[in-house]
Amino acid sequence: MPSLFDGASARIEAALEHIEISDDIAQQLAQPDTALKVSVPLRHDDGRMMLYPGYRVRYDTTLGPAKGGIRFHPDVNADEVSTLAFWMTMKCAVMGLPFGGGKGGIALDPKQLSPAEQERLSRAYIDKVADFIGPNADIPAPDVNTNPRIMGWMMDQYRIINRAEVRDVITGKPVEMGGSAGRTTATGDGAFHTLTTLMKRWDRKPDGMTVAVQGFGNAGARFARLCAEAGYTVVAVSDSGGGIYNANGLDLGAVTDVKNSNGSVAAAEGDEFSNDDLVTLDVDILAPAALESVITSDNADRVKARTIIEIANGPIASEADATLNDNGVQVVPDILANAGGVTVSYFEWVQNRQAWYWDAETVAERLESRMVEATEAVAERVEELDIDYRTAAYVIALEKLEAAATARGTSAFFRDSSA
Ligand code: NAD
Repeated sequence: MPSLFDGASARIEAALEHIEISDDIAQQLAQPDTALKVSVPLRHDDGRMMLYPGYRVRYDTTLGPAKGGIRFHPDVNADEVSTLAFWMTMKCAVMGLPFGGGKGGIALDPKQLSPAEQERLSRAYIDKVADFIGPNADIPAPDVNTNPRIMGWMMDQYRIINRAEVRDVITGKPVEMGGSAGRTTATGDGAFHTLTTLMKRWDRKPDGMTVAVQGFGNAGARFARLCAEAGYTVVAVSDSGGGIYNANGLDLGAVTDVKNSNGSVAAAEGDEFSNDDLVTLDVDILAPAALESVITSDNADRVKARTIIEIANGPIASEADATLNDNGVQVVPDILANAGGVTVSYFEWVQNRQAWYWDAETVAERLESRMVEATEAVAERVEELDIDYRTAAYVIALEKLEAAATARGTSAFFRDSSA
């Protein structure tokens, strides 16, 4: 199996069959711009001192300062962080945001930590990366297992180090600390706007359409709820503890209550099943919203959904693309489908810089309009070039990166002007 990063680069190769980009930008996008590896010290409550591997990667800054989340998870490693930062580069480009791509993380299981340990860890991470990040250089945000409170601790630590309030250094903060209205729900909301826009183009209606969501967390639970409210039948959801199925549609309010009290949806009323089975369920729409590479060459030919909305980053390994395409599965790619989060993070950064805050309706309207516009642009490219949605999204992203690189002058410009 190729590394996560090699698999991600394969998507650029597919797009390059449809557009030409200069060698300059091609070389630049082949590896991260800057990668930092640190050891994050944590004094545990029982007195133990442990050092955990921490990372921050700026993949590319052609379009602006790097932007991307911080993940706490035992599987975090240099390859994964670079790949996630690469995807952020493409995502910001496809959305037309003035950002490059970045990402960070700490390799450990945060569920084993007390709240006080989590706070010390978050502050220690910022101590290590403070010279690397910054509101005009690299702006972190939440990702898997990190949340507004953690962003708040991190911003506060940056303030202590700099002896100045720097709210635009990090997004996804609590609203009381300069966060934006609508940031917590933005990824689920954005994925839903993308789905709605495409359903209109495809002339399909939600009634009678079944949906399965893997990962009933921040993004997945919000998306599931919006789907149910719009008339889709959400038949299955899962989390790391397992999954739950009801052919007539789940009561998502009850599922949420069970998750909040028991830690997992698996104890809710319905038929229990595994996460592996969820991705091969006979549903119309499958939304993987947990982690990478859950659909691979091992199970791609058993996927029965007609449409996959990639809410997680990289849930489909590149080696599964051909099988899904051959079987007529429509894949709405992560760099479009989950871009609502970074879009509202951009709104937060803008509001912090202006110290002028928008109400929830304004954020929601602006998010919807950005998502609809980007989705329409990708769909038009799909029709124009007769390609899949992922390749179309990469074509648009690469065009924007190429245009910004050309504005600075590529090899062709300097060769021609020196002749
Ligand atoms: P989260 O931590 O709130 O939720 C993740 C959910 O996935 C949890 O319910 C967890 O139990 C579940 N999970 C973990 N391992 C699983 C497994 N093996 N099988 C099934 N479920 C599993 O995280 P989130 O913020 O909702 O992010 C989910 C995905 O969306 C990630 O890939 C993340 O990178 C991506 N994403 C998030 C945002 C955002 O703004 N939150 C933005 C863009 C992309």
